[in-house]
Amino acid sequence: AGSEAVLRLEGVVAGYGDVTVLRGVDLAVPAGSVVALLGANGAGKSTACAVAGGTLRPTAGRVLLDGRDVTARSAFQRARDGLYLAPEGRGVFPSLTVEDNLTVWLPSAADRRQVYERLPRLAERRGVPAGALSGGEQQILALAPALVRPPRVLVADEPSLGLAPLVVAQVFEMFGELRDRGVALLVVEEKASEVLALADTVAFMGNGRLSWTGPRAEVDEDRLTSAYLGLA
Ligand code: ATP
Repeated sequence: AGSEAVLRLEGVVAGYGDVTVLRGVDLAVPAGSVVALLGANGAGKSTACAVAGGTLRPTAGRVLLDGRDVTARSAFQRARDGLYLAPEGRGVFPSLTVEDNLTVWLPSAADRRQVYERLPRLAERRGVPAGALSGGEQQILALAPALVRPPRVLVADEPSLGLAPLVVAQVFEMFGELRDRGVALLVVEEKASEVLALADTVAFMGNGRLSWTGPRAEVDEDRLTSAYLGLA
């Protein structure tokens, strides 16, 4: 259906061994919009990303991509279905060169050329192991394939972590461009910060549940404070 969210979590319960982290999470990410998932350290935001991306199986609930149940599909299969997961800690292969990291996602040389035209800094460093890049360069490298081959949905777990303000601005500019091109974005941040300027919808996570979800316009200082204090 046209109004169907690109990514949807339905009643997701998930955790690690005996520890339950997510206790029934419902979240919808529509095409051409940014959903900011906010919450304190340890609230379960990364766990929600892992369930969405397919690196962690929920014990209950479903993950839907374009309305199709992909709960049983692997992370690799979901990537082929158009879900791009940018995990916390960048997710590049540190011992592979910049060129080889790009080749994993962009086997066509013409696509890689487009990356280098857009991002000359990566072109200069194409023969360098990704692990030798700065944190900011690694984050840009991790997101670069999505610019050339936009996925259906991008899930980014704390993309601003440890980055200089200028790089954060560049990363969020990339997200804005992808949103304008129709991509559905789920962006996880611990601090509200820059992501609020970009978000269409904000979801607060506390105690393994979404305590509040609503339009960005309804998020003010009071709402932020009570959400972080767990009162929302
Ligand atoms: P952070 O900003 O620290 O990443 P978060 O909101 O993303 O916070 P999660 O990383 O999802 O939170 O962690 C939620 C809970 O699950 C925490 O109590 C954490 O200790 C626990 N946890 C996370 N990963 C694992 C794991 N691999 N094994 C066991 N427990 C884990």
